[in-house]
Amino acid sequence: MKPVNIVMVGHVDHGKSTLIGRLLYDTNSLPEEKIKEIEETCKALGRDIEFAYITDALEEERENNITIDTTQIFFKSKRDYVIVDAPGHKEFLKNMVTGASYADIGVLIVDAEEGIKEQTKRHAYILKILGIEKIIVVVNKMDKVNYSEKRFLEIKETIEEYLSSIGLIATYIPVSAYYGDNVAKKSGKMEWYLGDTFLEVLDKIKIERKEFDFRFAIQDIYKGIYLGNIMSGEIKEGEEVKVYPSNKAVKINEIFYGNKKLKEARAPLSVGLVFDGEINAERGDIICKSEPKIKKEIEAIVLCLVDEIREGEKYKFLCATQEIEGIVEKIVEKIDVETLERKYDEKLKENEIGKVKISLEKPIVMEDFNSLPELGRFAIAKEGKLIAGGRI
Ligand code: GDP
Repeated sequence: MKPVNIVMVGHVDHGKSTLIGRLLYDTNSLPEEKIKEIEETCKALGRDIEFAYITDALEEERENNITIDTTQIFFKSKRDYVIVDAPGHKEFLKNMVTGASYADIGVLIVDAEEGIKEQTKRHAYILKILGIEKIIVVVNKMDKVNYSEKRFLEIKETIEEYLSSIGLIATYIPVSAYYGDNVAKKSGKMEWYLGDTFLEVLDKIKIERKEFDFRFAIQDIYKGIYLGNIMSGEIKEGEEVKVYPSNKAVKINEIFYGNKKLKEARAPLSVGLVFDGEINAERGDIICKSEPKIKKEIEAIVLCLVDEIREGEKYKFLCATQEIEGIVEKIVEKIDVETLERKYDEKLKENEIGKVKISLEKPIVMEDFNSLPELGRFAIAKEGKLIAGGRI
């Protein structure tokens, strides 16, 4: 079984690092030396073990060792989990929006004392546009509000109101990440809470990975082998497929996974394909078994990451390995994530979200985001710089 991917979001200082550190500690997911080292550092500073240090220490290690995957932290409960993005990580939004990282479950952390903040809403909205439907709201730092049920319910109500207005449903848990209440162990201080601990909630969430027809994006061609990623579906040796946009039908002669020859392969997997005859395809072409959706005009939700997206300007649009020039014809509306008001603007600035009409110079293969995220989202670049991400 592939590990379940989790993304942790929430306003700065609401306790993301601490919750991750606590999780790793309580699930014994850290090497003993690491724990000793952290305990000693904390002792030397004359304080209790600071769980945020664990996350920071891991982060530092990753930064010092460029060969390690930069954004993943593993832990184990009834199944394996990966935290696909570290809190405060500068690349967080970029990775999520462009699909460099993918999450099955979104955890939104809110400080029980401070309550809902601008970033809380923004992050919730982003979970929504990324299509993450399994949401856990951790109301953290319950120790700072005397483990008060009233305060928990107040916060729950406010967040619930916001989430339901954007079409999200969540599970709410009162937690103290610092003291470990309701993270892996049931708290003795919140008798009024009859629900599951954070870890139990995680373990119970059903992950359904949607199936979709065979789609393969050509990344590279090497000595007649077409290298790329099977984004969805499966393929067998000898099967007939079609190359888009050329519409050419071909037969698959061989499937390679590294040096190994496979009779069949299924998503997600990077493989090399050898065809029966010349197919004249190039990087960016998409190979399918069923008819794909091909578009030149797209309407999408766009999140601007840096600089701005301006009506009438030319950009490069990147979807899987496809790279196509196009124009932002119209910014239909800009969405205020706090009030959910929508109004027209000729541009989207950093952090702004809007609905946008794009017209492309050449047709692009794109599927509905909800059916196949890999072909339903795209990045927007200008002069080689990534500026925004979008989904149709
Ligand atoms: P992040 O910015 O969301 O990653 O937040 P951190 O995990 O770095 O936490 C910010 C501060 O809040 C740190 O000083 C933590 O020790 C503190 N903190 C985190 N969780 C709790 C908690 O459950 N109770 C208390 N009292 N403090 C906490």
